[in-house]
Amino acid sequence: MLNEAHRILKTVFGYDQFRGHQQAAIEHLIAGQDALVLMPTGGGKSLCYQIPALIRPGVGIVISPLIALMQDQVSALLQLGVKAAFLNSTLSLDESRRIEQQLINGEIDLLYIAPERLTAPHTLALFARIQIALFAIDEAHCVSQWGHDFRVDYLQLSMLHERFPTIPRIALTATADDKTREEIKLRLSLTHARLFLSSFDRPNIRYAIVQKREARQQLMSFIQTEHQGDSGIVYCLSRKKVEETAAWLTGNGVRALPYHAGMDARLRAKHQHEFLMNDNLIMVATIAFGMGIDKPNVRFVAHLDLPKSLEAYYQETGRAGRDGLPANAWMTYGLQDVITLRRMLAQSTADEAHKRIEYHKLDAMLALCEQVSCRRQALLRYFGDTLEQPCGNCDTCLEQVDTWDGTVAAQKALSCIHRTGQRFGSGYLIEVLLGKTSERMIKSGHDKQSTFGIGKDLAEQQWHSVFRQLIARGLVAVDFDNFSVLRLTGACRPILRGEQLLMLRKDQPTESKQKTRYSG
Ligand code: ADP
Ligand code: ZN
Repeated sequence: MLNEAHRILKTVFGYDQFRGHQQAAIEHLIAGQDALVLMPTGGGKSLCYQIPALIRPGVGIVISPLIALMQDQVSALLQLGVKAAFLNSTLSLDESRRIEQQLINGEIDLLYIAPERLTAPHTLALFARIQIALFAIDEAHCVSQWGHDFRVDYLQLSMLHERFPTIPRIALTATADDKTREEIKLRLSLTHARLFLSSFDRPNIRYAIVQKREARQQLMSFIQTEHQGDSGIVYCLSRKKVEETAAWLTGNGVRALPYHAGMDARLRAKHQHEFLMNDNLIMVATIAFGMGIDKPNVRFVAHLDLPKSLEAYYQETGRAGRDGLPANAWMTYGLQDVITLRRMLAQSTADEAHKRIEYHKLDAMLALCEQVSCRRQALLRYFGDTLEQPCGNCDTCLEQVDTWDGTVAAQKALSCIHRTGQRFGSGYLIEVLLGKTSERMIKSGHDKQSTFGIGKDLAEQQWHSVFRQLIARGLVAVDFDNFSVLRLTGACRPILRGEQLLMLRKDQPTESKQKTRYSG
């Protein structure tokens, strides 16, 4: 059977070797056993059920929550000559009927289906009539209320075990901390399933997150000192910034091309082609770039803007160093990033439950930025993976992180927010703390207040850092419906009362040592 699996790997999918736990999981499933597979995004989860589905008699049923992805996966399989189809709400009644007939005739090897469709009585009646090779439950963390993608339809999937007790099931996910993992097992009746747990670690990638000052200059000096003539990807949030950054790099003698979804498709394809063909080219891109890009020698991934989640960060930085050679994941991050992303979230039209999850994800991302110990340990912990020792290959491991007792500074900042009526943004609050007189200040009478000028012991830059860290740690909330006004949260009370010490990161000194400046 294993020979058969290898043969299919090669002849159908065109690969020479299995990766990680693929082979073990495939064997296990072919033998009719249940499995739970935890593998990072891009790790190759699909083959774990696709190959057994082709080997075992009958059709493999793949439950997937993402209708858009279903279509892509099925088209890709059809191109490889695999008899695949999907059943979801985008199909007309006629189309559905046709596929159902094909299923009855045994003409389909892989069927993708949405969970709500699967558990409909009509479908269950159909499934009772046909031979089923296996059930694959993709994005299995959707069954968990602890997770970040809970889907109520997934709860119904526990019935698979009751209705089809002899058919092997495989659940797959890229994120599952212990709690989520236990919930998946429990809710899907997979307590006896064998666990295939891949490491999420990418030891050859060095992580570094630096304070944003003059992002472009910092990027340039990073490229010049560590990546002269290398291939790399620079991610920016907006299309405009992509264009500007690419032009600026080129203008300063670094080969760079832009890539974003607003560009003409032909030009975009051309830039992608050039990037793949050349070993000394930088792609400046939005997140539109990267899906399915398999360039082994990308030596660095730089972020000029904060990704919106650790999943995104992991995936984007993961495009560096696929060849296993040393690579860098480098990012600049500042107060404005936090504010911009929170604003985008606040203004999005998503429902409340969804927004809460997104806020939660963003907070996890911010926590990584403000991390004072090993970043890799923190990153892996988020994905339910553990690293016993600090990695020795991230900025916090390599350079001692300086912290300082920021309790008094925090108290000053918090009182200032309170005394001025929780009606101002960080810029103005810092002016109050520094005792800067302006017309607006005098008019509001804040120059007469007890917090006016009490922050002269710190420089403006340091105050920005204090506010950023207060926001990142949830001690201060930003109100976006209202000019990014800062408000106190309940969490700041112990600090105001002096019951809790607050250690803050000392920001790195401004890169004034930089020899050359580049024209902006
Ligand atoms: P996941 O679902 O875990 O995110 P995929 O199954 O989509 O990952 O696989 C990610 C990429 O890796 C795909 O392009 C896939 O074709 C490729 N891949 C998977 N397994 C192998 C393998 N054994 N050898 C080479 N490439 C592989
Ligand atoms: Zn580390």
